[in-house]
Amino acid sequence: MRMTYDVVVIGSGPGGYVAAVRAAQLGLKTACVEKEKTLGGTCLNVGCIPSKTLLYSSEQYHWAKEDSAVCGINCSDVSFDFKTMMERKESVVQGLVNGIGGLFKQNGVTHISGTARFSSSNRIEVTDGTKVQSIEARSFILATGSEPIALPFLPFDERIVVSSTGALSLKKVPKKMIVVGAGVIGVELASLYKRLGSEVTIVEMLPYICPPMDDAVRKNLLQVLKKQGITFLLSAKVTQAKVTSNSASITVEQEGKTVQLDADVVLVAIGRRPYSQGLGLQELGVKMEKGLVTVDGNFRTSVPNLYAIGDLIEGPMLAHKASEEGYAVAEILAGNRPHVNYLAIPNVIYTHPEVASVGLTEEEARKAGLEIVIGSAMFRGNARARCNGYTEGFVKVIGLKETGHLIGMHMVGPQVSEMINIGVVAIGQKTTLSEIASAPIGHPTLSETIKEACAKGTLSP
Ligand SMILES: Cc1cc2nc3c(=O)[nH]c(=O)nc-3n(C[C@H](O)[C@H](O)[C@H](O)COP(=O)(O)OP(=O)(O)OC[C@H]3O[C@@H](n4cnc5c(N)ncnc54)[C@H](O)[C@@H]3O)c2cc1C
Repeated sequence: MRMTYDVVVIGSGPGGYVAAVRAAQLGLKTACVEKEKTLGGTCLNVGCIPSKTLLYSSEQYHWAKEDSAVCGINCSDVSFDFKTMMERKESVVQGLVNGIGGLFKQNGVTHISGTARFSSSNRIEVTDGTKVQSIEARSFILATGSEPIALPFLPFDERIVVSSTGALSLKKVPKKMIVVGAGVIGVELASLYKRLGSEVTIVEMLPYICPPMDDAVRKNLLQVLKKQGITFLLSAKVTQAKVTSNSASITVEQEGKTVQLDADVVLVAIGRRPYSQGLGLQELGVKMEKGLVTVDGNFRTSVPNLYAIGDLIEGPMLAHKASEEGYAVAEILAGNRPHVNYLAIPNVIYTHPEVASVGLTEEEARKAGLEIVIGSAMFRGNARARCNGYTEGFVKVIGLKETGHLIGMHMVGPQVSEMINIGVVAIGQKTTLSEIASAPIGHPTLSETIKEACAKGTLSP
């Protein structure tokens, strides 16, 4: 069977499905190919959504156990049912995944199930195990995402040695857990299992955690997570491992010393690499660097009718970055001229307290030789934070000295994943610190801390 489309998107993650829906809305005959049984990619199936659902459940449990009494609520017999937590996670994922199928139907996107491989630059073969379909298109959007990186001597068995995927589907809460890598995924999943009672040790090669974040934020988060009982081995490298049928023992080299650790589960969260296996891109001559597909400012690869977006190309591996690019590339294919503002893409860590950041960090701004002003304010002085009983953390804003324009906003604190969107809009709209400082932000809200930090920034010498 042969089929022809204006656009075929390969991969249905937040990059691919957004691109497909927008392309169809703009009148292009569109199909989306997905090799997994469910739509939604990493984000919906094994990433953002399951992790945030489990984090939410564990946070509720932790609140009931540790913080409810002070509010006059008696939860002395509180316990949790891990199986129900996992079932709820599955049903949230299922609901959202089905929603993408619905979006495809509403907008006229054809869903093609199977694994795509290029046979020429305008044709793919899609194999689903029983049949092979040949599909032709004027343009293709590559949105095949990324996969977890394993340590060569510690391969994933998704039982004892797990990737984030395995960690989100454990059968029981581990007594002892080692997390290799203190990036966003490592600290989120460490928080999750720590709250549920695991003894958690994080081993990190760098002397600090969460590399892309502002230094002040990283230091504060480290302090908070240590206070919550997570053990950190920084500047430490895992060099060897022995895995048995029910446990693992790992050797860590730290500043000339050797430390031996054991656990019933080891989560390896050392990063993800772009996934382009089996697509036949090399044969087509698609230019790649370190596995990332090279694109120009219009997401076009070195093969003119092939475009690429999301985790497969350069930039932070984030769902909303992939979606922005998906939307933009569809607009480009329809003849429009969209713009993705990479400075305004936020980065969030869903620990408790949360961490959120947008724009340049202080180190990046100074490295770029910019003259900056800085303002910061603590949540402990915020009325709403006191009402809610969560006063840890702060907001730090960075502005250009000459014009006062906001170029960075960084926060640790309660619900900052929601508050950071003020920074996103402000940076996108080229707003100044004094404009934010004079905005009539509601009282009492946590966002007043942003206003206070900006006001302080306007006084910065
Ligand atoms: C545990 C975890 C938590 C995360 N939390 C967050 C978060 O809170 N916020 C955030 O912004 N980001 C988060 N991320 C990152 C986010 O999930 C990714 O950045 C995002 O999913 C990338 O989207 P994408 O569309 O580029 O690729 P993906 O979502 O990876 O989708 C790619 C799709 O392509 C399909 N595919 C691959 N090859 C083929 C082929 N040959 N034929 C057909 N189909 C193919 C794959 O099966 C997959 O479904 C998290 C990731 C993980 C692992």
